[in-house]
Amino acid sequence: DIMNNFVKDSVSQTPIVDTVFAIVNRAKEAKKALGPEAVTDATIGSLFTEAGELAALDCVFDSLKHLDNKVLASYAAGFTGNPDFREKVIDWVLDGNSHLYREVIATPGGTGAVAMTIQECLDPGQTVVLPEIAWGSYSLMAQMNNLETETYELFDGDHFHIESLKAACRKTMEKQDKLVVVINDPCHNPTGYSMTRKEWEQVIDFLNECSRRCPVVLLNDIAYIDFAYGQKEAKKYFSVFDDISGNMAVVVAFSLSKSMTSYGMRCGAAILIAKEPQIVQQLKTMFEKDARATWSNVNNGAMAMFVDVLDNHLADYDAQRLAYVDLLKQRSELFLKEAGAAGLKHYPYKEGFFVTLAMDNSLRDRYHEALMEEHIYTVKVNKGIRVAICSMPLEKVRGLARRMKDILDRVQAA
Ligand code: PLP
Repeated sequence: DIMNNFVKDSVSQTPIVDTVFAIVNRAKEAKKALGPEAVTDATIGSLFTEAGELAALDCVFDSLKHLDNKVLASYAAGFTGNPDFREKVIDWVLDGNSHLYREVIATPGGTGAVAMTIQECLDPGQTVVLPEIAWGSYSLMAQMNNLETETYELFDGDHFHIESLKAACRKTMEKQDKLVVVINDPCHNPTGYSMTRKEWEQVIDFLNECSRRCPVVLLNDIAYIDFAYGQKEAKKYFSVFDDISGNMAVVVAFSLSKSMTSYGMRCGAAILIAKEPQIVQQLKTMFEKDARATWSNVNNGAMAMFVDVLDNHLADYDAQRLAYVDLLKQRSELFLKEAGAAGLKHYPYKEGFFVTLAMDNSLRDRYHEALMEEHIYTVKVNKGIRVAICSMPLEKVRGLARRMKDILDRVQAA
């Protein structure tokens, strides 16, 4: 028995229960034992080709391999990243839709951008407002920083649940004079919802109201934005951020992982936006110190690759990326059409890597097991079952919804 704490007392030592990788491995084992034809693997959260391989855009990795060795070997120009990368992130992400003061900090993936916001904007014991159904890392980040969480329901019928968001924010402001709110949009993980412009306007109106009481930080996680059907249209909602009050900041967390299919290169960015330059500066100062104290600087080759792809290979990049956007659309349309016909209930899906079936957690647990008995592997999320259409060839999607509904009926009847 370990008698003393060799790590900090204040944070739970319960190991991460990785609900994804455990099931990914079970699916792998099943494929080995039964042959790939007998298994439906809907667990993997990365984009896969129709041939069942990880999708890696040629233009991206050709660019990387043609970089000078000294570029790959080098440190970044600074702790906030390279100037050309930071500028290119503004151009590519905001696409001329945002006109307030802004700065960019390069980060290791979108994870780095989300983590530093949660870490640097709240003090231990304070509360961060999160979506009730969400990427698991948000709550882990909260835990590691000794933060409480308050969650909002995502949907009121088929729409964004603005009233639930309001309630969560009001409850939080009763306890503290700071508001940090996470919204993962567009292509929400794991439901595939994307908010309308009107819904974004309602959010900003409300947060502006909150900002009369206390400073407000909106963290908009856009990890999947480059796979939104609208493409450039999907970036227009950033202009809504032009209307934020002088007591509010927006942090846009961008990731190359999905945008460039370069998950392992660990590159992303935090875009800091505010009406007042001092707000942007304050965030930047803290984020730069945080960066320097944790990862120091970001993968130089990944930053150079991003700039090279967008400067010199844009047509290829668009063509290669859009082919996958189209493939995602074919897969999701097939699944949704068949789910509709079968009466299989899912959260409102618009676009993105995942569809999530809607159910309570007790049914979910029994259903998840029953699916695996039929060699259908999925990932459990809060109040649902995540189906990773991003990694399933069309032939695997075909007929899946019907099979899943039949298994669900059996579980519910038992
Ligand atoms: N945000 C969401 C919602 C995600 O699903 C992911 C990756 O799975 C990320 C952020 C960050 O990924 P990365 O750190 O690889 O950029």
